[in-house]
Amino acid sequence: MASTTTSTPLRIAIIGAGPGGLVLARLLHLANIPFALYEAEPSRTSREQGGSLDLHEESGQLALHAAGLYSEWKKIARSEGEDMRVADKHGKLFMEEVDTQGRNNRPEVDRIQLRGLLLDSLPEETIHWGHKMRSISPSSDDDGKHDVHLETAAGTRMETFDLVVGADGAWSKVRPLLSGTKPHYSTISCLDTRIRSVDTLHPAISKLVGQGTYLAFSDRKGLVGQRNGDGSIRTYIMLQKPETWLKDVGVDWSDEMATKNYMLEEEFKDWSEELKGLITHANPDIAARPFYMLPTDFSWTSKPGLTILGDAAHLMTPFAGEGVNLAMADAMDLSKAIVKASTESEDTQLFDAIKEFEKTMLVRSHEKMEETWRNLELFFKPDAPKEFVQVFEEMMAAHGPPPEVPKGYS
Ligand SMILES: Cc1cc2nc3c(=O)[nH]c(=O)nc-3n(C[C@H](O)[C@H](O)[C@H](O)COP(=O)(O)OP(=O)(O)OC[C@H]3O[C@@H](n4cnc5c(N)ncnc54)[C@H](O)[C@@H]3O)c2cc1C
Repeated sequence: MASTTTSTPLRIAIIGAGPGGLVLARLLHLANIPFALYEAEPSRTSREQGGSLDLHEESGQLALHAAGLYSEWKKIARSEGEDMRVADKHGKLFMEEVDTQGRNNRPEVDRIQLRGLLLDSLPEETIHWGHKMRSISPSSDDDGKHDVHLETAAGTRMETFDLVVGADGAWSKVRPLLSGTKPHYSTISCLDTRIRSVDTLHPAISKLVGQGTYLAFSDRKGLVGQRNGDGSIRTYIMLQKPETWLKDVGVDWSDEMATKNYMLEEEFKDWSEELKGLITHANPDIAARPFYMLPTDFSWTSKPGLTILGDAAHLMTPFAGEGVNLAMADAMDLSKAIVKASTESEDTQLFDAIKEFEKTMLVRSHEKMEETWRNLELFFKPDAPKEFVQVFEEMMAAHGPPPEVPKGYS
């Protein structure tokens, strides 16, 4: 990557230290381009990070190559995590992809480990923890700069930037400056929890889920068990329901017994006893949330001094496992655009480079948003998972092995 940059560096702010913001930060750091990364959370340990992610060769893995972190990631990646079983509510298997020996090259990594890898690759002082962006507005000079208003434990302050990158997730505060479109409810509500020390405490569940992911779908509902690297199994209980159902149904989701009783006696009462174990043995820390998404053709007209990436640009549900992968690929492409516009020998204006980046990102994300929406529809059909498995097998047959990583990365 080029390191010859102009003598007056751009002032760049990245809002959000999720996978997208962190990959961008790492790549700018490697290119000697200064930036400030603002994260609302007070520290790297302040929030539980969620389950496991499979990184794809053509996106997430490619970004790790560019970031010089591929070999480190390989040490923590679990190729056995690729195993996948798809069943119905009786536990009848419709698909079993096990012992793949890493054939699909989509190894799993726990989200906390991926985040740690990225955080450790950055100088500590580049990340401003506990800096929540309260608002952003065009600066008074109207020259494409923006004023970022930050809230910290010490009070509020304002900084002005040439480029503000909204890597601030689903409810981005940067996105409204580019578009009036808001995320809408995806029709799916989800409860997630985990079963710790599963091998010793619940060997039957451990065997059911295996080393990868077990998905059971029927009657517009799903139970998913996902092996994590820390000896636990993350479980997702998903239901196709109206937007306010989680609030309206009258169950206190922070009450473990009330939640389990409701799910076992109402929603999943005719599911197999084996599958119901994913609910019965869940630990008490249950998080309930509706899934939101942006329209699958979401786009905007580019504006100088601003851009968005990751969930801020293409929020989708997790049903194709693409969100993190796209966020990382976006960050890689955006870093190239910024480097190009910052290099003396190149005659590229920042705004032109950003427009080009957004064009590429939107083509890629529209395809994945469509795929994700199609998977959601197939998973939540009353006779699921029959049609999902058919479509998946047809797709695998048509696409063949995953694409190769272009040469030239470390
Ligand atoms: C249950 C579930 C399972 C999923 N499973 C997968 C999977 O298997 N594979 C996959 O690829 N994707 C998966 N996803 C999607 C994935 O989590 C997201 O696509 C991904 O995290 C997006 O990364 P990001 O960097 O764009 O945003 P985020 O990860 O949301 O990060 C945004 C960051 O910005 C910070 N922030 C927000 N607002 C502000 C502010 N105003 N000021 C400062 N900081 C702010 C937040 O605190 C956060 O740290 C899943 C999502 C869910 C909900």
